Amino acid sequence: MIINIPKDVNRIITSLRQSGAKAYAVGGAVRDSILGRKINDWDVTTDFTADKVKEIFSDYRTVDTGIKHGTVTVIIDREPVEVTTFRIDGGYSDNRHPDTVTFTPRLEDDLERRDFTVNALAYNDSEGLIDLHGGLEDLKNGIIRCIGDPDRRFNEDGLRILRALRFASQLGFVIEENTAKSIVKNFALLGNISAERISKELFGLLGSQGAAKTIKEFPQVFSGILPELAPAFENSIDTAVQSLQKCDNIAEHRLAALIVIAGRTGDETLTGLKLSNAARNRIKTLVECAGIRLDTLNETAFLKKLGSLGKDASLDALSFLTSLYGTDRSVIEKAEKVFESGKCITVNQLAVSGKDITAFTGVTGKAVGDTLNALLDMVIENKTQNEKTALLNAAQTLDIRRNGND
Ligand code: ATP
Ligand code: MG
Repeated sequence: MIINIPKDVNRIITSLRQSGAKAYAVGGAVRDSILGRKINDWDVTTDFTADKVKEIFSDYRTVDTGIKHGTVTVIIDREPVEVTTFRIDGGYSDNRHPDTVTFTPRLEDDLERRDFTVNALAYNDSEGLIDLHGGLEDLKNGIIRCIGDPDRRFNEDGLRILRALRFASQLGFVIEENTAKSIVKNFALLGNISAERISKELFGLLGSQGAAKTIKEFPQVFSGILPELAPAFENSIDTAVQSLQKCDNIAEHRLAALIVIAGRTGDETLTGLKLSNAARNRIKTLVECAGIRLDTLNETAFLKKLGSLGKDASLDALSFLTSLYGTDRSVIEKAEKVFESGKCITVNQLAVSGKDITAFTGVTGKAVGDTLNALLDMVIENKTQNEKTALLNAAQTLDIRRNGND
């Protein structure tokens, strides 16, 4: 079997080999090359220590990514390639990090510490594919299988449970029977794993084609990691699965759908997962827009909401809601046209400014903003033109009314 390794990665492998090292491309890139999938990044594994690797590539920029774990990143033509020394992971007393890592001269040891057979393939141009765990066969048959005893492997690192589901979901693979049984038995081990590691794998899973199917098969795992959303995985699992199938392959959309189905605000979930502010805000907006059914709002309320959300968030929410509820997608075009046309839907687009309001009506402070908002409502409701004189006159009537009420 021949795998096309990018020139730069091959240069690293060749230089290492010319210096007397063993060196192979390994892991996800080898797997995805064979599957003809898009490759994220290339990892190289070698028997040389990180210090020796740095010496060999002293003419290049290198980054000490994880020297303690044997990893140095070599940057060739701006492409970062992680080079890691063959290693054996020591005991895992906390189910999280190996207590120690031991470097080893044997490729076999390094492949054995890896999680799944399809992730334990090594390759270089001189030796071809090295497949000590039947990874190629599993790749051909679409199977995720632990290397060694699944119970032991999941107890070493609970995250592997979620990784198995993530790979199955992304690759459209099934999980081998013993591995699947062990997942059901051991999923509570995910309780020992940091929120950041869980979130990364969960997002990979939710953003992929097989998310609905995976959740249908292992609902208990998801109740375990997202306890506030348990209603979606327990009582409403069929609705949840159907809804997830309707969503695009976007993790934020799927998580928002689950929050909606569980009838939650999402606050605890989003805080618990320690998501970035961007992801958190995006999901909160989606949940909120589902609450008001932005996709079916009346004209005035719709325009006001587009104005307060802005273009990107509005279009994202409409795309989410029309998929989730199967509503007419022409509402997306309608929103696009509103934004393109420059139609007045925000106070910034009014033909008067706060200064104008103060100069003309004498109001100051918070009342200025209130006046502008009231004018915006009038413009959206077609009660006045967005034109300076008309707005100032309208402002005066508003102001009189307000003073009268005070
Ligand atoms: P992706 O394309 O999503 O990056 P990947 O297989 O490259 O998939 P990484 O998380 O980048 O996944 O890990 C690189 C390799 O390191 C894996 O292919 C696997 O061999 C090994 N690996 C990563 N995480 C673990 C783990 N928790 N336990 C055992 N081996 C692991
Ligand atoms: Mg990778």
